Amino acid sequence: MGERLYYNVYAVNTIQVSSELLHPLGVGDFVDSGSLLQMSITESSEDKLSIVRMNAELRHAQLELLSAHCATHKLRLRFPAQLLARHGRRDVLRKSIETASALNEYYSSIEKQFPSEEAVAAPAPGPNESHLLLAMESVASFMRDQRDHYFPVAKALTAEQTGRLGSYFPADLLNRIKVVELQGARVSNPAFYPQMRALGFNNLPDFAHLNSLTFIDVLVFNEHMLERTLFHAMVHAAQYQVLGLERYTELFVRGFVDVRFHFLIPLEAHAFLLESRFARPNPDRFSVEDEVRLWAKQNRY
Ligand SMILES: [Zn+2]
Repeated sequence: MGERLYYNVYAVNTIQVSSELLHPLGVGDFVDSGSLLQMSITESSEDKLSIVRMNAELRHAQLELLSAHCATHKLRLRFPAQLLARHGRRDVLRKSIETASALNEYYSSIEKQFPSEEAVAAPAPGPNESHLLLAMESVASFMRDQRDHYFPVAKALTAEQTGRLGSYFPADLLNRIKVVELQGARVSNPAFYPQMRALGFNNLPDFAHLNSLTFIDVLVFNEHMLERTLFHAMVHAAQYQVLGLERYTELFVRGFVDVRFHFLIPLEAHAFLLESRFARPNPDRFSVEDEVRLWAKQNRY
């Protein structure tokens, strides 16, 4: 087992904490074995244990922050900032703003104390603009290639499906759509994933775990197609139709870098939102294209 190095900021000595000390408590993964952590500590085993506890609590706080981030992101997707500013309860908004500012201040003060050696060794801060452009091009050409790959084996929607979806999508789009239900196979991840990871794109969605993939006007289902999952895939087809492939992939890539989780990308979140409206016991009729146009106009993508 390897050992982890901890630098003492205030003194020159370094200490070694063995992996065995960290792993029995199940918190070894909380510490990046490749990085140097700065600690103002002595070498007693009590102090080593307190580092372990500290990292467990740090991890706990980080998960709670992630949950707060998700809840706030949902709010952002559903309601424009202008509406919240006008009609949001002042006391709740002020408390939220205060909490967010205090957290930002606290974590920034810690970041300022990172050692200079670490700053040099730190990984790249994530994809830059030219990486984003490369990702957009790669995603767009992957979409076109996959569309052409599946098109020859894809089938048109049945008259029943077209009839049911006619209250939500225009006939010309429904008539153009083709579907493929994969049996025993799943869509593979794009060949450019390793390159994207190397550029700092993390948390890339695993295609095999998605219900369906919309390749422009060809919908590919990893699992048996249900009415609800067909509707979801159709929302993406409507998004392509309204936004165009280039704009769609741009919003997809920028949204992903922004929120870091596939299901939180606004294009995706909107599809889930409309899908849940469609799946209500007595769903209202609405035009998905109008909804997409509205979100595009309000810059919610
Ligand atoms: Zn989706």
